Amino acid sequence: MKVKVWGARGSISISNANSIRAGGNTTCYEVISECLPPGTKLMIDSGTGFVPAGWHYLSEMGQGLKYVLLYTHYHWDHVLGLTLAPPTFIDQIPMELYGPRDEGYGPKEVVQYIFKRPFFPVDAKRVTYKMKFHTIDDFDVHIMVVHPKGGFAVLNLDQFNMLLSAKKQIPLRRKKYDISECMIIRMAKANHGNATCISYRFEEIPTGKVFVFCSDHEDTVGVSLELRRHFSNADLLVIDAQYDQQKYINQTTGFGHGTPYGVVKQGVVCHVKRIGLTHHDPGSVDTFLENKILPEAVEALKQLRSNEKFRHDYHVDDIILTDQDVFLCYDYAEYEV
Ligand SMILES: [Zn+2]
Ligand SMILES: [Zn+2]
Repeated sequence: MKVKVWGARGSISISNANSIRAGGNTTCYEVISECLPPGTKLMIDSGTGFVPAGWHYLSEMGQGLKYVLLYTHYHWDHVLGLTLAPPTFIDQIPMELYGPRDEGYGPKEVVQYIFKRPFFPVDAKRVTYKMKFHTIDDFDVHIMVVHPKGGFAVLNLDQFNMLLSAKKQIPLRRKKYDISECMIIRMAKANHGNATCISYRFEEIPTGKVFVFCSDHEDTVGVSLELRRHFSNADLLVIDAQYDQQKYINQTTGFGHGTPYGVVKQGVVCHVKRIGLTHHDPGSVDTFLENKILPEAVEALKQLRSNEKFRHDYHVDDIILTDQDVFLCYDYAEYEV
């Protein structure tokens, strides 16, 4: 499994000479896996990074090119790229949109809202006819299953667990497939102010690799049991670390975003193997990210290593994360999970 970053910026897109390395596209990540049906591009969110992602794959048109979009939530920085990405308007490229329901809005209602005068010149009907929408209510008791031939399905967690314990095959598109050939996607609630926000956990069964994406998450509530399970033993956790500790304490507490210290603590408690920092603040230029945000994460790791009380309280015998295992996510970079 690989993860490609199309947009790692938070809140609003930027472009300036001091932010070349990290880039300025808002949230859009791609999950690349052998478990996906051929031609299917699996994206998390469609911030402005979805525009270059859309251009990039146009050459694959006619080879089954299709987009599956998983939405964490519907703040502008996570949806707006959909309005100007080429695949949105190309009839031959089908799209499936999955996401939570928030204030009565699922993916369909969101598209109908943003593709409308006076906000946008093209009416939603022009694009929705080729889109399939899946609003995932109760996402904590559902699970998504993906198979290279069977495609995507959302199953009830109990139903899934029963099939699993009985060693039965998974029914997808009226056929049955071995779970050992699937990727499963678990969902949990991130702590993002008043928004309903999903964190996605991708478990590639054939390789055993696990990737967790948790942007737009604030760590004030500590590490909940649910999130601890959700993050546990991930090979890669990409997580929101928008604010340095001082800014967080002085200005942005309660804004629904994380800090390097908070995310490292969560990663250590959950035995995560690597941490990618994302949702960079629009005001954080490259040198700030590299000389302040990342060093704060490394310093947090150092503090936690020498804090015996923390290790005892959280049952952490051995901290497996090294300084090199924590990094900044940059636009257009690709990471092996
Ligand atoms: Zn955001
Ligand atoms: Zn948000």
